[in-house]
Order: sequence, then structure tokens, then C-alpha cells
Amino acid sequence: MSGSRARHAESLPHNRPKATERWGRTQCPYCGVGCGLLVQIEAGQAVRVKGDPDHPANFGDVCAKAIMLPRALHTPDRLLYPHLRTRRDQTLTRVPWSLALKTVARALRNIIAQYGPDAVAFYGSGQLLTEDYYVANKLAKGFLGTNNFDANSRLCMASAVAGYKTSLGSDGPPAAYADLELADSFFIIGSNPAECHPIVFRRIKRRKEQAHDDVKVIVVDPRRTETADIADLHLPIRPGADVALLNAMLSVLVEQGLVDQQFIANHTQGWEELRAQLARYTPEAV
Ligand code: SF4
Repeated sequence: MSGSRARHAESLPHNRPKATERWGRTQCPYCGVGCGLLVQIEAGQAVRVKGDPDHPANFGDVCAKAIMLPRALHTPDRLLYPHLRTRRDQTLTRVPWSLALKTVARALRNIIAQYGPDAVAFYGSGQLLTEDYYVANKLAKGFLGTNNFDANSRLCMASAVAGYKTSLGSDGPPAAYADLELADSFFIIGSNPAECHPIVFRRIKRRKEQAHDDVKVIVVDPRRTETADIADLHLPIRPGADVALLNAMLSVLVEQGLVDQQFIANHTQGWEELRAQLARYTPEAV
């Protein structure tokens, strides 16, 4: 842990668990921030959740979704056992796992016998882990013989991956959480972290409050969101105008000789083609 991060962790007012209590360490399953959690266990059940003060993503902070995890686990209407009805107008009845599995297997076998394996498709949850995906894919591709396996993880991330690959050359965001405490400027576009990634937003906000005049926050969003509330500059552009705005910014950078020619020569492709496009994107025109 770097010096600034260590100081940051110490400064947070979260109590550490008492020695007599039983706490486990885990990770919040809900969003991509990946907050570290401490879960209190009583009689084999999770009864309380709080942020892990030693976790480098959240340093003890958590949002409401994680706090409510014990309630979600123990809600009386949680589906814990298979239920079956043979007709839609029947009431669902609890059945043993063996019967449920046989029923699904028989249905799949009948569909495949009649229409072929591509008549079957799987749709996975974004909350599945790598190993879960492996097993589910094995079942679909290795045993049933269909490639029809999709998941909301792909639908959710496909546009981001395409953007990362074409603009940065690699499928992954280039920044690290540790950069948040070192940044002098935040340019937030196409994102409302105050609502979607609240713990990251809290860190941005804390950084802004710590060095109010030196840290600038720019938010590009047609709506005035809670994220825009902390912005020095909120640009409420027309929906769909973000590429035009980015091109106009690039045209100013080129015009004023602020681009790093060495970096462009070493690490980019298609620069001349891009540059030729910029004539259409003067700040005035945009
Ligand atoms: S921001 Fe909230 S939902 Fe996301 S990982 Fe952290 S606690 Fe979970």
C-alpha cells in the first residue's frame, strides 16, 4: 500500500471487529467497484455487513446495497429449492432436486431430438464466477452441442470492450484506484458514478474536497446528476454529441501543439486519418 493510500485508510472512522465476534472477509457481488466486505456470522448465518477497512477499493466504505445483503440472503421469499408445475395454470410445488434435474434433462433431450442442439440457448448471469461460466459452457458446448451461450456480462460490457480495444488497444480500463488520490483533474463522460459506482464517487468527492482549488472536475452529461453537483464545469451536451465534443477537444489540442508527438508515433495507428477529420470539428462548429 502506497503512503497516501495507507494514510487514507487510517483516516477512515470505521470500527474494526471486536475479537469476540466472528467475522469473515469477502467481496461485494453487486457492482464492478468490487468493495471488500466484512460479514458477521452468528449461528451459521450472515447477520451484519460492513466495509473492509483494509481493502484497497473501498477502505471500509460501502453503499446501501452491500449493507442490505443479510436481509437479501434471509428474505422469506428467497427461492432455495426447486419448484415444479406441469401446466401453467397449476400452482408451483416444491419437488426434490433429483426430480427437477430429471425433468430439465428430459425436456432438453426432447427439444434436441426434435429440433437439433441449436434450438437450445443459455443465458447466464453477470454474477457468475469464472468457474461457474466454465461449467455452464461445458454443459452447453461440450455435452449439448450448441454454441448458444450468452450472458448479461457480455451485453453489458461489449460496447466498453469495443471502445477499449479500438481506442486503447487493450480490453481493460487503464486507470487504477490509487490514481484517484493523485489526480488533479477528473473528466467524467458517459457515467454517473454518484449513482452507479458510489464508492468510487465518494473517493473522487473526497479528493475534490481535500484540494478544492487545485482539483478540477468536469462532467459531461445531458442531465444534471448528483455527479454534476460536484463539478467545476458541467457540460450538458445534446445526447449523442459526445464524439463531436471529444473531436473538438482534440482539434484544440492539435491546434495549440499540446499533443505528444513521440507518444503518437510510438503507440498509435491512423493518426493522420484522424487528424484529417478534425477540420470539421472546430469548437465553433461543435
Ligand atoms: S459500490 Fe456498493 S454495490 Fe458496488 S461493490 Fe461497493 S458496496 Fe457493492
